[in-house]
Amino acid sequence: MADSTGFLKHERALPPRRPVDVRILDWKDVYLSRQNGEDAVFPVTAVRQQAARCMDCGIPFCHHGCPLGNLIPEWNDLARRDDWTEAIERLHATNNFPEFTGKLCPAPCEGSCVLNLQESPVTIKQIEWEIIDQAFQRDLVKPVTPQEHTGKKVAVIGSGPAGLAAAQQLTRAGHDVTVFERADRVGGLLRYGIPEFKMEKALLDRRLDQMRAEGTRFVTGVEVGGSGVDDLSAEQLRAEYDAVVLSGGATVGRDLPAPGRELVGIHLAMEYLPGGNRQALGELDDPPIDAHGKHVVIIGGGDTGADCLGTAHRQGALSVTQLEIMPAPPGQRDAATNPWPTYPMVMRVSSAHEEGGERLYSVNTERFVGDADGNVRALLIHDVERVDGRFQKVEGTERELPADLVFLAMGFTGAQREGLVEALGVDVDQRGNVARDGEFMSTVPGVFVAGDMGRGQSLIVWAIAEGRAAAGAVDTWLTGSSMLPRPVTPTAVALR
Ligand SMILES: Cc1cc2nc3c(=O)[nH]c(=O)nc-3n(C[C@H](O)[C@H](O)[C@H](O)COP(=O)(O)OP(=O)(O)OC[C@H]3O[C@@H](n4cnc5c(N)ncnc54)[C@H](O)[C@@H]3O)c2cc1C
Ligand code: SF4
Repeated sequence: MADSTGFLKHERALPPRRPVDVRILDWKDVYLSRQNGEDAVFPVTAVRQQAARCMDCGIPFCHHGCPLGNLIPEWNDLARRDDWTEAIERLHATNNFPEFTGKLCPAPCEGSCVLNLQESPVTIKQIEWEIIDQAFQRDLVKPVTPQEHTGKKVAVIGSGPAGLAAAQQLTRAGHDVTVFERADRVGGLLRYGIPEFKMEKALLDRRLDQMRAEGTRFVTGVEVGGSGVDDLSAEQLRAEYDAVVLSGGATVGRDLPAPGRELVGIHLAMEYLPGGNRQALGELDDPPIDAHGKHVVIIGGGDTGADCLGTAHRQGALSVTQLEIMPAPPGQRDAATNPWPTYPMVMRVSSAHEEGGERLYSVNTERFVGDADGNVRALLIHDVERVDGRFQKVEGTERELPADLVFLAMGFTGAQREGLVEALGVDVDQRGNVARDGEFMSTVPGVFVAGDMGRGQSLIVWAIAEGRAAAGAVDTWLTGSSMLPRPVTPTAVALR
C-alpha cells in the first residue's frame, strides 16, 4: 500500500545538473553520475522520498500518458520500499529499455499525473531512471534466453529503439533475429543523433551486451536495399528471412527552400549532429561541421534544435540563436485549450538552453544572405503574427541576423523512399510513412513496420512501444499465436 499522504510531506524535487561552466567543457552527462554506488548530491533516500509522493491513485492517470502501459504506481511503491529487485521486474515487464526513457523521455506520464493538477507531479522519470540504474549496479539485468527455438528467421532493418525493442522481444520468443544497420554502429538516433550530454553511449552499449548474450545478431555497415558492394538486396532479404521488420526511422529532414539555401554553411541538423557525437566519443578530432568560433543560427525551436545548441556550445561557438516561427509557449498550461491530463504545452528550459544562446519566437526566415565567396553570412528574418490560423509577415520588421553556420532543425518528412522502400515495393502513405495495417504489416505480406518509419517522427517511448507491439504481430504471423504484449496499435495516438 502506498503512502497516501506522502505528497503532503515531501515537495517535488529533482537532482541538480552539473554547473554550466563545468559541464560545457566536456561532453559527459549534464547530471552527476554515481560514484561508488552513491550520489552525494541526490542520494537514493531522496529518490525514495519522491517515490513516496505517489498516491497509488484508484484511477492512475499517469498510465494514460504512457504508450508502454508502464505500471507506474507499482514500481513507485517498490522504489519507496527499497525493493529494487521487484521494482525492475515490474519496470521491465512493460519497457525493454527504461534507461533510454529514464534519461530521454519528455515524460507524458508526469503531464498526466494527478499531482500535476497542482503542477508538482511525481518525478516518475527520475524514479524510473533510479530503478534501472540500481538494477545494473546490483547486477540484476541478466540475459533472458528463450526456452525453445522456433527455427524462424527474422530480419530487423534499423537499430533505433523500435528495431531494438522488436529484436529483443522476437529473440526472447525463440526466433533467430538479425538486426541490420547501415551506420558503423548500432543504436539509430540514440547513437548518432542524441548527444552524449543527454545520454552517454555507454548506457546503450551495456544494453546491447545483454541483447547479444540473448542471441540477437547485429550486422553493421550494411544498407538493406542499398547499391554498395557489401549491401544486402531486397531479393536476398526476402529469400533468406521468414519475416522482416522495417524500423529505418523517419530520416528525411524537412528542408527550407528559401532563396540562398545553396550557400555554404547551411545544413540539416542530422548532417551536423553525428559529427558532434563522434567528436564527443573521441572518434573524430575535427568534425566535418564545426561551430568553433562561429555565429550559429538554428531554425527550429524543438528538441533537435536544442541538441544542436548544446553541441555548438561545447564546440566553442561565438553565439547561438534559435529561431521558432511559433509564439513563445506560456509559463503555465492554458486550462481551456490544454487541460490536464493532456501533455502540457509550456515553456521548457532544457539543459542546453540553460547553457546560453538566445531564443527568438514568432520569426520567419525570408532568405539567406551570402558573401562574395558563396558562404552564408546572415539570415534576413521578420516577425510573424497569426491571422486566421496562418502566419503573416509583420511589415517593417525585416532585419539581418549574422550567421556563419545555419542548422535546419524543423522536423522530418518521413521515411527514405529510395533504396529499401522502393526495392520492396511497400506503399507509402500521404504523410510519407510506410503504410501498415492493424497488424503492423506493410502492403507486402511478411514485411512489418515499426517506429518512426510507420508513425512518422515521434518519441523513443513510442518507438519502444511500437517495436514491442510489432514483435507480437510478427510472432503471431510466424507461429499462429503469441504471448508477446502489444501495448499500442499502429493508429494509437497520444492523449490530447
Ligand atoms: C536529434 C534528435 C534528438 C531527439 N531527442 C529525443 C529525446 O530526447 N527524447 C525522445 O523521446 N525522442 C527524441 N528524438 C526522437 C527519437 O529519437 C525517435 O523518435 C526514435 O529514435 C525513433 O526510433 P526508430 O527506431 O523508429 O528510428 P531511428 O532511431 O531513426 O533508427 C533508424 C535506424 O535505421 C537505420 N536504417 C535506415 N534505413 C536502413 C537500411 N535500408 N538498412 C540498414 N539500416 C537502415 C538508420 O541508419 C537508423 O540507424 C530525437 C530525434 C532527433 C532527430
Ligand atoms: S497519477 Fe501520479 S500519484 Fe497517481 S498513481 Fe500515477 S504517479 Fe502516482
